[in-house]
Amino acid sequence: MLTEWLKQRDYSDHAPQPTSFDQCIKCTVCTVYCPVSKANPAYPGSKECGPDGERLRIKNPEYYDDLLKLCTNCKRCETACPSGVKIGDIIAVARGKHGKKNINPKLMRDYVLSHTDLFGTLANPVAPLVNVMTDLKPVKAVMHATIGVDKHKSLPKYSFGTFRRWMKSQAAAQADYPKQVSYFHGCYVNFNNPQLGKDLVKVMNAMGYGLQLLEKHKCCGVPLIANGFYDKARRNATANTAMIADAVAEERPVIATSSSCALTLKEEYPHVLGVDNAHVVGQISFVTRFLLKAAMNGEMPKLNPMNKRVVYHTPCHLERSGNAMFTIELLRMIPGLEVIVLDSECCGLAGTYGFKTENYQTSIAIGSGLFAQIEAAQADFAITDCETCKWQIEENTSLEALHPVSVLAMAVGTPSVS
Ligand code: SF4
Ligand code: SF4
Repeated sequence: MLTEWLKQRDYSDHAPQPTSFDQCIKCTVCTVYCPVSKANPAYPGSKECGPDGERLRIKNPEYYDDLLKLCTNCKRCETACPSGVKIGDIIAVARGKHGKKNINPKLMRDYVLSHTDLFGTLANPVAPLVNVMTDLKPVKAVMHATIGVDKHKSLPKYSFGTFRRWMKSQAAAQADYPKQVSYFHGCYVNFNNPQLGKDLVKVMNAMGYGLQLLEKHKCCGVPLIANGFYDKARRNATANTAMIADAVAEERPVIATSSSCALTLKEEYPHVLGVDNAHVVGQISFVTRFLLKAAMNGEMPKLNPMNKRVVYHTPCHLERSGNAMFTIELLRMIPGLEVIVLDSECCGLAGTYGFKTENYQTSIAIGSGLFAQIEAAQADFAITDCETCKWQIEENTSLEALHPVSVLAMAVGTPSVS
């Protein structure tokens, strides 16, 4: 039984171990598991872009191939590799070192898509207007033709009022709890979905924990890395690591509800951005890992039955970080909830990747298997831990996709926080 095994193990996460391309045994398993290689014949594949390409690039940077930008950084290759080669990291670092930024309209698009904290701050006070405008067909057509945001995509909706502002009104009540946790909410909860943060407050409070904001919280950097803004990503990583160290010094562990934020804080900072986080990495947890441990310590209140049939989709970055089992086990604790765990497949959106005209068809081809699985299951709703998987599922299937914390908030049975 997983819960028994979990009880016996040390929950502290260990610092990720860096590995080198020369550990590659040339088995090609990574390319077999690469969703982009399957969907787009132009992509050379994980092995060729990762360890094989790196051998050439260290001899002569002229061997850098711009096709590396087709990698979604899903890290399915790393999950599959028997030798622990960090193929996705190798590709991301190569793009940072050798990729060129051409001044063209797509650079503006990449800037807008990747600077999620800046544009969230600007859009939030006028969110209803921005949401209507970006959904208009003529506006979509212009964005498609000029800067290259695909006309089939809807940009994520902004909330009117941020999570941080709401949390400030809760500060005194949260400080009253004897146990305290700091929350890395990310741009998505702050600017797009404060309700997920409120659901987390409800669950944590029901378990006896107060939730604290992290001061000077910045975007984790994952969209900046994906779009080539490495210097800004590195500055954010340095600031976030210092901020997390302050929370840890005050004996508050840090939890994150976004599987990609959590992976970035823990692994991309040292491996891709060169920011040392060894002093804090063991205190950062993906939320379901933290919650399951607390539940096994008897801190979970009685859960109300939820007679629903749901499908669970494992996000690529959650799979890579080994946290999917925590989410699944937690969902299985809800009485009456029938959880169908889907075969693990990439949804295809990969953050900002699938919004781009040049990637849209690949994105849909990658996700098509997942969409078919979801429709065939005839479930009441979908569950996933990643915001971009949620957008892709909701745009391409008939189901709403909820975060596991929101599902848990429905089951803990105390009145909704609003
Ligand atoms: S799966 Fe790992 S060992 Fe096999 S070819 Fe890819 S990088 Fe090399
Ligand atoms: S990170 Fe994903 S897209 Fe990139 S090479 Fe690996 S499996 Fe392929």
